[in-house]
Amino acid sequence: MKENIRNIALLGSTGSIGRQTLDIIAEYPGLFRAWMLVANNSADLLIEQARRFMPHIVIIANEQHYERVRTALAGLPIEVATGAAAIEEAVVAPEVDTVVTAMVGYSGLSSTIAAVKAGKTIALANKETLVVAGDLITRLVARHGSVLYPVDSEHGAFYQCLVGEQASAVEKLILTASGGPFRTTPREQLATMRAADALKHPNWIMGAKITIDSATMMNKGFEMIEAQWLFGVPHDRIEIVVHPQSIVHSMVQFVDGSVKAQLGLPDMHLPIRYALGLPGGRLATDGYKMTVDDYASLTFERPDFDKFPLLRTAYAAAEAGGNAPCVMNAANEIAVAAFLADRISFTQIHEIIEKTMAWAPRIEAPGYDDYVASNAESRRYAQSLVNQFV
Ligand code: MG
Repeated sequence: MKENIRNIALLGSTGSIGRQTLDIIAEYPGLFRAWMLVANNSADLLIEQARRFMPHIVIIANEQHYERVRTALAGLPIEVATGAAAIEEAVVAPEVDTVVTAMVGYSGLSSTIAAVKAGKTIALANKETLVVAGDLITRLVARHGSVLYPVDSEHGAFYQCLVGEQASAVEKLILTASGGPFRTTPREQLATMRAADALKHPNWIMGAKITIDSATMMNKGFEMIEAQWLFGVPHDRIEIVVHPQSIVHSMVQFVDGSVKAQLGLPDMHLPIRYALGLPGGRLATDGYKMTVDDYASLTFERPDFDKFPLLRTAYAAAEAGGNAPCVMNAANEIAVAAFLADRISFTQIHEIIEKTMAWAPRIEAPGYDDYVASNAESRRYAQSLVNQFV
């Protein structure tokens, strides 16, 4: 018997978005079931989640942790598997209704493509997959009758502003940014900032990788490219605006001069709840809600492209197209990992990305294998730059 409960495959269940998605699944037990949980390395938390949510299957991607997870869950009616191929196999199962892609970075690409090809509904939190291969993924979505619902708060806002509107009525998308932990840090001090400084984000509680992307504003560049693919609006009609309170999650300006904005607390449970409610409608909650008493004043300012040059890099990558965003993403993943390990300085993140993009061979119209190769060689080159710096 499969009532009206939607089976969720949650890829990246132990990360920040994954844990908050499980909060939402637990909030609506009559609507959702965690059917499949996937984690990369966090075996202990995955075991805990499996015991609580009793999914059909759990997959620990890193094979080194497989025995521990299997032993811990022995005797429970839960299938345990490991490896990338197992993820791609399980995600296409007919029982799966919605796939939440909450893995970090490029690693989410192959399983996202498998789910798209199976025509699944996808709640997309893994923005890097669209940065890397937005052209390929949007073509596959159309061909296989899949659907992408954004989980990113800004894209959830665009989606809500665009409901009931015609594409031709849209003049531009206004993408809001908190400005990150270094918004008010003088530019000349950025070179001395360490990972510990960058990890203190003012508004949002997020994983380490995205918090560094927020500090460099690469995250906003990624979100601009993500918006291009999700809403079919070119990069030169997407404007980035700094809004330190993170209450306006983004806006859409229309041809008649009207602007629609979506507001709410800076809490990822909201966009996750909205994405999981689609296409049916909004899910009621008793949680804490926004009041104007707490936010009497909302402010907006232009981003500083000189202080955060990766914004310029992202627009250039969007303009160049082809494999340029894939190369940018690959170099960023290597540079951010090196910065988190205190191996390079904050400003060297930009340097590594620019040098890798200048070096990488251009591919005009990449297919899947081109993305795989371009990602691998760009990571190797970026890593060689990191090693020179150390
Ligand atoms: Mg966002």
